[in-house]
Amino acid sequence: MRHADGAALVERFGRAEVAEAVRAAVGDLRTSLRAGAEADVSREAVSAEAGRRLAARGRSALRPLFNLTGTVLHTNLGRAILPEAAIGAAVDAMASPVALEYDLDTGRRGERDDHVRALLREVTGAEDGTVVNNNAAAVLLVINTFACNREAVVSRGELVEIGGSFRIPELMTQAGATLREVGTTNRTHPRDYVDGFGPDTGLVMKVHTSNYRIEGYTAEVGAPELTGLARAAGVTFCNDLGSGTLVDLSRWGLRHEPTVREAVADGADLVTFSGDKLLGGPQVGFVVGTSAAIARVNRNPMKRALRVDKLRLAALEATLKLYRDPDRLDATLPTLRLLARPAADIAALAERMLGPAAAALPGYAVSVGACRSQIGSGALPVDTIASAGLFIRPADRGGDDALGRLAAALRALPRPVVGRVSEGALVLDLRCLEDEPGFIATLQDLSRTLHAVP
Ligand SMILES: *Cc1c(COP(=O)(O)O)cnc(C)c1O
Repeated sequence: MRHADGAALVERFGRAEVAEAVRAAVGDLRTSLRAGAEADVSREAVSAEAGRRLAARGRSALRPLFNLTGTVLHTNLGRAILPEAAIGAAVDAMASPVALEYDLDTGRRGERDDHVRALLREVTGAEDGTVVNNNAAAVLLVINTFACNREAVVSRGELVEIGGSFRIPELMTQAGATLREVGTTNRTHPRDYVDGFGPDTGLVMKVHTSNYRIEGYTAEVGAPELTGLARAAGVTFCNDLGSGTLVDLSRWGLRHEPTVREAVADGADLVTFSGDKLLGGPQVGFVVGTSAAIARVNRNPMKRALRVDKLRLAALEATLKLYRDPDRLDATLPTLRLLARPAADIAALAERMLGPAAAALPGYAVSVGACRSQIGSGALPVDTIASAGLFIRPADRGGDDALGRLAAALRALPRPVVGRVSEGALVLDLRCLEDEPGFIATLQDLSRTLHAVP
């Protein structure tokens, strides 16, 4: 560690970290020497190995990457990327005290929700609204508020599982409610709901079938009709939209999804939806609805455990304000900008990237081709959008092994690249690529990595 190379590492990473890394590097050398291998035991070699370990250890697992999977709202890659305005607002809130629960007019205690309450009314048309950690929390809170120790009625066709552990039946149990399934998998009629309502019914829920579609001989009860049935029975009705968009997507050539405003107008007491799906903001969950229903939700002590911090509230407020100028949303809101990007523009981008990619990948055949992107995160599950990308195949039919190794090398880069392997090619869908110089620099990193490995 007294050697110049070691001292330079200490300067950068601190004594304790470097000591640990040098010990590990020496330990590995000892093991390979014992196994009879040749090894470079110079101080320079040990320092270099320790430096590699320290750099890898210092690298964040949450470092930026290129999402070239073709799924715009990729849950495992963090869903929506935030608009500039939201990033600025969150950074400001991070670095300074803010009037989070403080009323600057009166100098008294204020309400956390006040910052977005008026905006939520404005963009959804609901009487009132509140914000929690995510939509799963919103649904949990609603069920617990209205159906704890009571029954919650849901159609059998809507008992959704959304990746991981969000499953309606299990959520019901955790929220203390008894699930009362009505209808069948493919067909549920108004009378099924009416028969399902009883003295113990606390809630009826409609759940957006976010990641599947039931087709063929089907029947469901729409929200307007379900509102009437619930009202007649004196039961609270919650419509879980899942993704929940605030604008008509058909404007940008996508299929029309019912908007939150439409769901509110259909008459549900409560509507729940996510902040980081189609809305394009930070991870939050919304509950909007009638003043009376929201007041009950707000009185639930569980809400305190599900609340959001100042960073996300600041980012959310800035994101919602962008909706005041819907004409420019496809410029200001990255999610919409990426979803609305024309296939021809993406194809032109792919042509520009072809040269740098081919140069970085000797031994592979790289070509430009058409592909299909997905929206992701449970919006329009069976719709895809025309896109374009780079198709990478091993030049010598080296097989899937070569593709798997290449995909791994791309994921191991300082700025990882995540694509998808499909039909014998590694496909990099360029819909979500906006940083062209950054991508070219990453391809150069890749070229260096591939040449370093014999
Ligand atoms: C995505 C989704 C949820 C969960 O939302 P998160 O924001 O991921 O917690 C709940 N319900 C439906 C219908 C969804 O699509």
